[in-house]
Amino acid sequence: MQCPKCNARMREVKVKIQGAETLATSYQCGKCGYFDFEEKSINKAINEIKAKESALKIKQKIIKLSHGRLGMYINRDVARSLNLKGGEEVYVSVPDKKHLVVGIGN
Ligand SMILES: [Zn+2]
Repeated sequence: MQCPKCNARMREVKVKIQGAETLATSYQCGKCGYFDFEEKSINKAINEIKAKESALKIKQKIIKLSHGRLGMYINRDVARSLNLKGGEEVYVSVPDKKHLVVGIGN
């Protein structure tokens, strides 16, 4: 595999994509820094991530509480799958403007 920019030989590197099981194959040029994924393997990784997300996705409403606070129910199925009983301390983080992550335990 040759670099499309500088024609140097590119290295084949397996890359771990967050949320995917399969390692994606990438091609990296050591000379000019060109980087590309092999299409078949990156598509496979993307499909794995999508499948995971849809399996865990539940639509819920944010409820209004007193004093301008908001709340969200954790339904029974989610509580059971995470082994939550109520009273646990969790860590809430906001990685970007579209996600709210609740971390359980440390
Ligand atoms: Zn190059």
